[in-house]
Amino acid sequence: MNNKGCAVVTGASRGIGASIAKALAKSGYRVVLNYSHSEKAVNEVLKNIIENGGDGCIFKCDVSKRDDVDRMIFYAKKTFGKIDVLVNNAGISQQKLFTDITQDDWDRMVAVNLSGVFNCCQSALPDMIRRKNGRIINISSVWGVYGASCEVHYSAVKAGVIGLTKALAKEVAPSGITVNAVAPGCILTDMLTNELDEETISSLAEETPLGRLGTVEDVAKAVSFLASDNADFITGQVLGVDGGFC
Ligand code: NAP
Repeated sequence: MNNKGCAVVTGASRGIGASIAKALAKSGYRVVLNYSHSEKAVNEVLKNIIENGGDGCIFKCDVSKRDDVDRMIFYAKKTFGKIDVLVNNAGISQQKLFTDITQDDWDRMVAVNLSGVFNCCQSALPDMIRRKNGRIINISSVWGVYGASCEVHYSAVKAGVIGLTKALAKEVAPSGITVNAVAPGCILTDMLTNELDEETISSLAEETPLGRLGTVEDVAKAVSFLASDNADFITGQVLGVDGGFC
């Protein structure tokens, strides 16, 4: 298979991240699959990649822990020489009334969904800057653009990811690095089904102008585009993959 370099995908054991990892592997990247708990699932993703002629490896770490992230980035560079694409996808969600959100809920949401992106970007960037080459793709959310009732902490950090993306894009553009965000709408994964009942999920599909929930492949295709040569002159953008929701 055509070797395009190395892509690190956080939260690649399930859902959107697993699909992104498979799509990038299919287009020729050697993929470092990050996960935090789902060991069996991440092994299945790697097996699938290898069976389809791709290459990759697995690294377990919690993206909110800076030392662990530094170890992952070191491991990725040691294994595949350099990192060409970083996809910050790992994330958690929680449905709660704003007045019920505890300090721990807030801190965890910020630590994983926003500090996790900061940690991975800051750890991977020095080498990208030295090489004057690199792509960073951050997975935000339609709620980071639009805001969601009962998900104020989630919406706030996903908006933060957009701010980080736009500012960092400007800072590292002179080094030839692009930084973009993808803002998925309602995508059918564990995140949706674990948090919402069936009735709410079908009303979200009805509220989506294209009349359906998104698939993990819908998001993976957008990420593959942003990682490809076709997106050479695109940076600091937020690409909505939401069926017209926003
Ligand atoms: P998911 O099915 O719940 O999968 C989450 C992934 O993130 C898993 O691989 C999980 O790993 C990993 N993860 C969670 N916490 C982690 C941590 N601290 N360190 C490393 N990995 C961690 O979620 P998803 O729906 O695919 O969501 C992926 C991304 O898309 C998230 O950033 C989410 O906010 C965003 N998004 C999703 C939707 C949607 O409708 N599904 C919409 C907009 C945006 P383990 O399995 O090992 O725990």
